[in-house]
Amino acid sequence: MSSFFENKYFNTYYYANIVSNILTRDIETIGFISNFFSEEETVLYLAKPFEKRSALHSFIQHIIGDFFEDDMNENDQKYFKNGLYADSVLEEYGMSDDYSFRDFISDKKKITYEDVEKYHDELRLTGTLEELYERIGNEVFYLLFNNRKALLQFNDIVADYIKEVDVSEIQDYETKELFNEKGFLKRVRIPEWAKRAVFFRDRGKCCLCFKDLSGLLNTESARHYDHIVPLAQGGLNDVSNLQLLCSDCNLKKRHNQIATSNWYQSWY
Ligand SMILES: [Zn+2]
Repeated sequence: MSSFFENKYFNTYYYANIVSNILTRDIETIGFISNFFSEEETVLYLAKPFEKRSALHSFIQHIIGDFFEDDMNENDQKYFKNGLYADSVLEEYGMSDDYSFRDFISDKKKITYEDVEKYHDELRLTGTLEELYERIGNEVFYLLFNNRKALLQFNDIVADYIKEVDVSEIQDYETKELFNEKGFLKRVRIPEWAKRAVFFRDRGKCCLCFKDLSGLLNTESARHYDHIVPLAQGGLNDVSNLQLLCSDCNLKKRHNQIATSNWYQSWY
């Protein structure tokens, strides 16, 4: 049962919408992207091959954090005017009923603005906020993993930063080893869990021509786990950068093309 998680759908669509808007690289939101990549280590961290907590997880969680902090401060200012109760803060953040953080603070007493700031620090220091971002992040990932257009946009953004990495400057030997002499990530073996995830998401069919690759009806067709943004274009070895293709479509896409499909099979 370890692969099951309870989806609370608390503001999941709200955050998914924010993330997918940011991925369009609209001029209004571009700052959030450069903010995420502001530290050089970030892109090197994302370069690690096939972490279960994918590159997209990291990005989503970061964006949620940015917006949550803003919303939190705005709420507090609003509530503080009316006399703030400790537990109302949690409710407003969706951290009580939705995410069972009620135990964290149970006082009914009125608190001061300094208390609020201390309380925020406490939420940060105890890792409570990070935990919340991670949980909401998992729900947002669940939605966005099915959106290949968003996956392409995300990996295309990361590719721009991968291209800028100066491999000769990398201190850490293991990280340096991930790159080839051209400065792109080396091809690595795709782990079974990543293949299974992509196979089930794409319903065992080629994303581009819908050929059945399940091996149930047609055993002739080989499965290709294709990098949506090719490694030679700065693509990542990340589950968010994979799609299922048949041999023919994989061959056609060879020439360092960045492509996916917006076609999905309906439920019925
Ligand atoms: Zn195909």
